[in-house]
Amino acid sequence: MKNILYHSTRDNEKMLTASQAVLKGLADDGGLFVPEELPKLDVSFEDLKNMDYKQTAYEVMKLFLTDYTEEELKYCIEHAYDSKFDTEEIAPLVSAGGAYYLELFHGATIAFKDMALSILPYLMTTAAKKNDLKEEIVILTATSGDTGKAALAGFADVPGTRIVVFYPKNGVSPVQEKQMVTQKGQNVRVIGITGNFDDAQTGVKKMFGDEELAKELKAKGFVFSSANSINIGRLVPQVVYYVYAYVQLLKNGKLSEGDKINFTVPTGNFGNILAAYYAKNLGVPVNKLICASNTNRVLYDFFSTGTYDKNHEMEESSKAFTNERKFMLTGSPSMDILISSNLERLIYFIAGADTGKNAALMADLSSKGAYTIDESMKAALDGFESGYADEKKTADKIKSLYDETGYVIDTHTAVAGAVYDDYKAASGDDTVTVIASTASPYKFAKTVMTAIDPANANEDDFKLIDKLSEISNTEIPQAIEDIRSAAVLHDIVCDKEDMPAQVKSFLAV
Ligand SMILES: *Cc1c(COP(=O)(O)O)cnc(C)c1O
Repeated sequence: MKNILYHSTRDNEKMLTASQAVLKGLADDGGLFVPEELPKLDVSFEDLKNMDYKQTAYEVMKLFLTDYTEEELKYCIEHAYDSKFDTEEIAPLVSAGGAYYLELFHGATIAFKDMALSILPYLMTTAAKKNDLKEEIVILTATSGDTGKAALAGFADVPGTRIVVFYPKNGVSPVQEKQMVTQKGQNVRVIGITGNFDDAQTGVKKMFGDEELAKELKAKGFVFSSANSINIGRLVPQVVYYVYAYVQLLKNGKLSEGDKINFTVPTGNFGNILAAYYAKNLGVPVNKLICASNTNRVLYDFFSTGTYDKNHEMEESSKAFTNERKFMLTGSPSMDILISSNLERLIYFIAGADTGKNAALMADLSSKGAYTIDESMKAALDGFESGYADEKKTADKIKSLYDETGYVIDTHTAVAGAVYDDYKAASGDDTVTVIASTASPYKFAKTVMTAIDPANANEDDFKLIDKLSEISNTEIPQAIEDIRSAAVLHDIVCDKEDMPAQVKSFLAV
């Protein structure tokens, strides 16, 4: 098998092994690690039909993480996709309303971040061993809700690691806060800060860049690392379920070999849809990748015009970026993002794997807040479609799908569902389509129940969760039952200036 090395999207001088890239997270020049070439599947779909999720995961991940031995990779996979998931299928497909929903929310925190964050701790600790890292890894994370809990659940009690999560004390939903402050584990700490998400994020970035602090910790046997979505160790596990979904449809006779498939993905940081693009390059016959945004539609504007502008919004009729772009809070908060970090990996690729060309565009983004790709790059985007759904359209999709089929989807998934409906109506494309279903509706019960039955949605979250269970005829996930009665284990709140002191106190240095 070909050994694949990794380099920055902005410079290909320095090559790293996969395990080194997993440990490092982000390149020193601010770029993201990319494989020097995108691999191809070396096993047939016929053979994949006989494999379960874990076996499929091995066949896909071994192509990217080539310096991990078979034994190491299988160890990581076995420990990640176990009974933490409430179904052995790991990522089941549900047919409803003319599309297939790929349910990526059966893990510990009932959102798709579990698909990668269940395995990242194992990939990281294995990488630490392979590279003779002597220090214990300390994961620092700032969260606006979902990532923090998924990272906590993934790293809890993983030997050789500690994790500290900072969240804005008054900036997350009650369910999200309860999920975090009840987190068990000897190696975890959750800290609220008096400030917003940006303060938490800035505080964490400062600690990553603090050489004095790094030196002090290293002397005591600790090194910082990141579980952020730009880590290649989060991207690669996400490629698996696109291959798996295609093969399940072949197996069930919904597709014949060679038939094409569309994937529609509710998109924020562009990690999930980029994984679908990698799957296409592996050999999954993809017709269209449909990128769905909410009201924060910077990606829709980009795909429509070739200009990425975080400060200005496109005017639909003139395609000019005349209006100020404002950050909007929506009912699909995990997609409320104006800088889509993982898009850089696609830009690098459509630039013909030209790191200099990509670096120049990223320099424009940082100096002017915008960049424009050239015609050849635009032409390379022809496999993508895009759209966006506002709050009303999203709520209408939840309601109409429920009314027609009884199936309940969450707000993020509904953004994708609505965008797919528009695409299908406009294009007439009837290719079999899989929609990435990224969160359990139970996680956003209030918004979901407001969409379905607004007259009776004025109740607290747990009452609405019971109602949701009744109307959808589904069991309340364990992750929700757990927090209903769980004891609060973390109650520290600090000022942002005190974040380093809190980390040191947790590590007893
Ligand atoms: C993170 C997240 C997304 C967005 O995924 P990206 O990889 O950032 O594009 C969509 N839905 C949910 C529920 C999420 O948690």
